[in-house]
Amino acid sequence: MGNSKILSDLGLSDARAPRYTSYPTAVHFKPDIVAGFLSTCLQELDPEVPVSMYLHIPFCERLCWFCACRTQGTKTLAPVESYLKTLIREIEMVAAKMPKGVRIGRLHWGGGTPTILPPAQITALTNALKKRIGFDDDLEFSVEIDPTLVDADKVNALAEAGMTRASIGIQDFAPQVQKAIGREQSYDQTAKCVSLLRDTGITSLNADIVYGLPHQTTPSVLKSLDQVLSLAPDRIALFGYAHVPWMAKRQRLIDATTLPDARLRLELFAKMSEDIQARDYQAIGIDHFAKPQDTLAEAARSGALKRNFQGYTDDRCPSLIGLGASSISKFSRGYAQNAAASSAYVKAIQSGTLATARGYRLKGDDKLRARTIEMLMCDFMIDLDNLKSEFGASADAIAPDCIATAKKFDPYVTFDGTRLRITAAGRPATRIIAQDFDRTESDAALYSAAS
Ligand code: SF4
Repeated sequence: MGNSKILSDLGLSDARAPRYTSYPTAVHFKPDIVAGFLSTCLQELDPEVPVSMYLHIPFCERLCWFCACRTQGTKTLAPVESYLKTLIREIEMVAAKMPKGVRIGRLHWGGGTPTILPPAQITALTNALKKRIGFDDDLEFSVEIDPTLVDADKVNALAEAGMTRASIGIQDFAPQVQKAIGREQSYDQTAKCVSLLRDTGITSLNADIVYGLPHQTTPSVLKSLDQVLSLAPDRIALFGYAHVPWMAKRQRLIDATTLPDARLRLELFAKMSEDIQARDYQAIGIDHFAKPQDTLAEAARSGALKRNFQGYTDDRCPSLIGLGASSISKFSRGYAQNAAASSAYVKAIQSGTLATARGYRLKGDDKLRARTIEMLMCDFMIDLDNLKSEFGASADAIAPDCIATAKKFDPYVTFDGTRLRITAAGRPATRIIAQDFDRTESDAALYSAAS
């Protein structure tokens, strides 16, 4: 993971590529997918098969400058309370479309800041889900936590709601970096949050950290990483900061002259990755790490790792229902995304219509290409035999692409007629290599730096 020679060798140090949390990526969604499509997909769910569910809470008390999430700042709870009523109404509407008996197997609350919800609202939201849909016995329930916005009451409410995994946002502990990205959060605050979570019995903890931020140097990120590791997270997501101020307006507040250049970005990732792995974490895909006994690490070892909108997962539920403004649902027919603006989302739900505003109907070889790209992003390999057992003879269409890609990226990609592999030295270019199998039209300006 640490060798970035491929990018300079191929002149790709500044290349941009999709993160491939879906295929096609969300920039290809079109407004011809409306509420009727989502209704059909919900009606077709198999009651015997649990579903994944994502709930989006698009509010934050503070708006961090580096963040490109769809969220709005608020100092009062009034808009949050009103939004929550709409979200509960949406749960009722979605539940009414689904066959009786469908259970939630995976639940994720993201945002924004789900921990902006007071304890009573955490309980109200959970009760609505339990009453209208129901939880599977093996429910895994993860929540994104802002350590500056939790107290014992909130953590207890989340634990009582059934939370099994907490995902804490850290980014970087260096004060100079935090100041430059408009997000101040001390080590002590974070450590207190972690001990509150552990006191309530949460055993699985994920930490999000970021490289490529203003003022970061190799010694500074390693010092910050040391503090992160002292909290003993079970999983670490090491994301590259994507500076796209033309898309995320808040990022205009960041002085671009203080950002690490492409060469330093690669070095920061390489050194942090090495350090994390030296501390008994297993590398997962392009940017995650997990303790070897963690289920994500087990999934990676057994070839069961998947990619979803949150990154890497061992989730086996075939369908995902996204609730809340801008949320994306995924079914075998395709993708359906809710209206991105909270006002449009609320208006649709309050008028009794599902809030789908755009999406994508999977057609032709989309599913085959989606799985091929997922294999590369998860396993750094395409196994044509596995593709054939899943897709039959149509998988043969991928073989000529494998030959061409191996030639183009030689010696970083090899192909033996059955398996295409990205070598360890080629891994920093995984997103660029995966793009070779993408048949949608792409516009580089829409994507983040590939390293
Ligand atoms: S990083 Fe978290 S708290 Fe900050 S703006 Fe983004 S979602 Fe909100």
